[in-house]
Parts: sequence; structure tokens; C-alpha cells
Amino acid sequence: TMAHSKSLLVLENFIGGKFVPCSSYIDSYNPSTGDVYCRVPDSGKEEVEAAVKAAKDAFPIWSSKSPLERSQILNKLADLIEHDLEAFAQAESKDQGKTITFARTVDIPRAVYNFRFFASSILHHVTECTEMATVGCVHYTSRAPVGVAGLISPWNLPLYLLTWKIAPAIACGNTVVAKPSEMTSVTAWMMCKLLEKAGIPPGVVNVVFGTGAKAGEALVCHPDVPLISFTGSTLTAQRITEKSAPHCKRLSLELGGKNPAIIFDDADLSQCIPTTVRSSFANQGEICLCTSRIFVQRGIYSEFLKRFVAEAKKWKTGNPSDPTVDVGALISKEHLEKVRNYVKKAQTEGARVLCGEGVDSLALPPGNQKGYFMLPTVIAEVKDESCCMQEEIFGPVTCVVAFDTEEEVIQRANGVKYGLAATVWSGSVGRVHRVAHRLQSGLVWTNCWLVRDLNLPFGGMKASGIGREGAKDSYEFFTEVKTITIKH
Ligand code: NAD
Repeated sequence: TMAHSKSLLVLENFIGGKFVPCSSYIDSYNPSTGDVYCRVPDSGKEEVEAAVKAAKDAFPIWSSKSPLERSQILNKLADLIEHDLEAFAQAESKDQGKTITFARTVDIPRAVYNFRFFASSILHHVTECTEMATVGCVHYTSRAPVGVAGLISPWNLPLYLLTWKIAPAIACGNTVVAKPSEMTSVTAWMMCKLLEKAGIPPGVVNVVFGTGAKAGEALVCHPDVPLISFTGSTLTAQRITEKSAPHCKRLSLELGGKNPAIIFDDADLSQCIPTTVRSSFANQGEICLCTSRIFVQRGIYSEFLKRFVAEAKKWKTGNPSDPTVDVGALISKEHLEKVRNYVKKAQTEGARVLCGEGVDSLALPPGNQKGYFMLPTVIAEVKDESCCMQEEIFGPVTCVVAFDTEEEVIQRANGVKYGLAATVWSGSVGRVHRVAHRLQSGLVWTNCWLVRDLNLPFGGMKASGIGREGAKDSYEFFTEVKTITIKH
């Protein structure tokens, strides 16, 4: 009906400082109700072309501003987002299905902090200088922004991950064309409304909405976009690598994970259990860093399982806008189906589902009956070769298995194609260092999870990615270095 279509939120691309409508649109669903509530531009080559041109035109002015000027603008943008934190959090929760509590305490505060962090760190980089006294030369390096950066982000932490790219890119003096996930575009569009007020000149930040196949690929293939920063799945990264190869583009790839938690018999279970439940199920398990393989030393295995399942059952699944809810809706109907199928496969392979999917019943409020919900699910007695132990599930599903020795568990933890994050729980200082050194993983947390210092490198090994992001790493990625030699 007309009344219905009128109530839909309609997004527009943001190009050259202006909102511009698109000729066709994609439906975007509210995952907690299953209703279409928003229309997202279905951009393609033409829109990407216009955005890249705007970004190219803006580059000379933006790149010649001093780091301090850019820093002040980034701080202003952080303030403006923070001022609207509640509106952003509500929008992120509605668009993504995540709980309002998570959006309020994690997603949006982090988006704000991303801008503050790079506003600060850009002021503190120093370049190198060496002397060759015997030949009367000094060498020094200088760093300059590269040009138009293409930024492609996923749906799980929409504004958080997009701003983790936009902030360092523009702090370094690049201009950007960003393409958020077509499933979660609303908060990026809201941010565009604040750019002018923050003092970001037109064309510095352009946002083109649409699918990966159309808008994303047009950006990846554009000859005037020399660098692509991508966060998403390993499969898409392979495609991006292939498509960008003819242009020899600089790529930063932050990809999937199959993250182990290794729990030794001297672990403090009172800390370990609630943290491991959180690391398994936070944001519906839709965080690249979520734990999905839990290795527990034999002596504490049954006690761990009992307490872990009891703790997982405390997590309340339901309407994401209810502040007491811990688990919201999954991103889409298709994704929910995919996650459920992993649980079914585990069952046919003889694994035991201890709680959640297929075991416990889920009572949802009347308005959420068609939402994409699933209970936190714990699976035990899964074989290491099982797809549930090898593939990224990216939902509220975690597998628990027993191990005997340190050597054995290191081999098994490393026995997947991914290498993003791992957690190690033990009271022995020597052991946590030994194990951390041998894990094939870009990040290792011991006796904690998701404690981040943005100064330090973030990223994965093996199929989990190429490159790192962080204060120095992002600075290096988003700038081109030159070595200059002076003879005196
Ligand atoms: P995805 O790869 O399907 O999509 C990510 C983005 O790429 C989206 O914007 C999508 O539209 C775009 N895209 C898809 N095909 C494209 C193409 N051919 N060319 C250019 N762009 C294309 O991933 P997703 O399902 O949105 O996100 C989930 C994945 O992201 C998981 O694997 C998760 O582990 C990973 N992830 C990794 C990190 C990290 O930092 N390592 C963080 C969050 C999520």
C-alpha cells in the first residue's frame, strides 16, 4: 500500500557532499521482525564513477591540510556522533538485529573512539632519518597520502568497522569512497548527514550504497582507486584480489576466523566461563573474533561443560530493543538457515547438542515471531575434521572438545585454515607465553577476551587476512613512503 511504502526509510548515496538518489533500490529487512523497513540504493558503475571523481577532485585540498587541521575535524565528527549516540544505537540495533545494549555500549562508542583515536595518533608519527657521514649524505623518509581509498565493510559491526577504515584513511589525507554492506547501510547514511557540520569538505568522504557484486566490484575495478581496505569473508577477499590484480592495488584484507579457546586445568573457571560464554555468543556470535572451538583439558572437561551450559542458558534471547536481552536476531533469514544447518550436520555426525537449537524452546514476543532468532547453542563431542570445527559459522554456536596435553592442543588449535584470534586460559605464566608464541593467530588473548589497544596491530594470519590495522599499521597502509637522500 501507499501508506506502507511511504513509511519506508529511503537512503541516498552521498557523493561530493550531496545526497543523491539512485535509479534502483534494494529492500533492507529488520531482522527482529522480518519486515522490509528500508530501501538502499542499488548503485553500480555510474554511481561509483561519480563518487571516485568527487574524491579525486577533493584530494588536492584535503591532502594539503596539516595533520592538526584534519585532526580537529575528526574530533568534531566524533563529538557529533557521540551527541547522537542514542539515535545511532537505535538505528544500528534495528538494522542489524543486535541488541540495543550492545549497540549502545560497543558499536557506537567505538565508532566515536575510532575518530578520536586517529585524530590523536596522526599527530604523533615520526619518520626515519639516517646518516652516511663517509659519503656526506643524510637519508630521510617522508610519507604522503596515496589518493582515493576504496573502503568495503561487512554487516556485523556496521558503523564500528566502517569508521575503523574511514578515520585512518582521512586522517592521513586520503579521500575515500566507502561501500558499507547492503544489509546494514543506515548508520553510514546517518553519519553522512554530520560530515558538513564537522567541517569535512565535500568529496572527502563519499558513500555509495549497494551490493558487493555491483557497487563493490565497480570500486575494486576502478583504475583511480589505488588502495582497497576490505573487511569481510575470505571468499569475497579472493574475488577482490583477483579483480584488483590487473591494477596492482594495495590491499588490506581483514577476514574470517575459526577462533579457539584453550582452557588448561589450572584456569580460573570463575573468570573463564562467563568470558568464554561472552566470547562465543556476543553479538549473536557474529563477530570475527568470536570463539567457536573450545578445547578443555580432560581433568576439568565435565565440570567445565556443566557450568558452561548453565551459564549459556542464562543468556536471554529476544527483542533486541529490550535492554535486558543478551542475544538479538541474526542478520538475515538465509544466514539463520545456514547457521541452523551447521547444528543439524553436527547432529547427523553424532555430536551432542547440549543446549539451544533443537533442544530448548524459544518463546518470542508477538512482534518478533518472524524475526531471525536462535538460542545460544553448545555442541560437544564434535570431531576436529567436522565442518563445525573447520568452517566459520558466524552465529551463536560453539563447540566444546577435550584435550590432554599442551603439545596436542597447539596442533589441534592450529589445524584450521584460519588464524585470526585465540584465547588461552591458564594460571601458569610460562605456559601462556609458550602457547601464545606457537599459535598461528594474529591475536592471542590470555585470561581475557576482546581487550584491545588500538595502537597495536590487528589482523589475521593464513586465510584470516593480509595486513594489519592499528595506529602505525593503518598509517603505513594509508600512506606512501619515499626515501630521500641529500648530499651535503
Ligand atoms: P562479505 O564478504 O559477504 O561482504 C563484505 C562486504 O564486501 C560487503 O560490503 C559486501 O557487499 C562486499 N562484497 C561482496 N562481494 C564483493 C565483491 N565481489 N567485490 C567487492 N565487494 C564485495 O562478508 P559479510 O558476510 O558481510 O561479513 C561477514 C564476514 O566478515 C565474516 O567472514 C567475518 O569473519 C568477516 N569479518 C572479519 C573481520 C576482521 O576484522 N577480520 C571483522 C568483521 C567481520
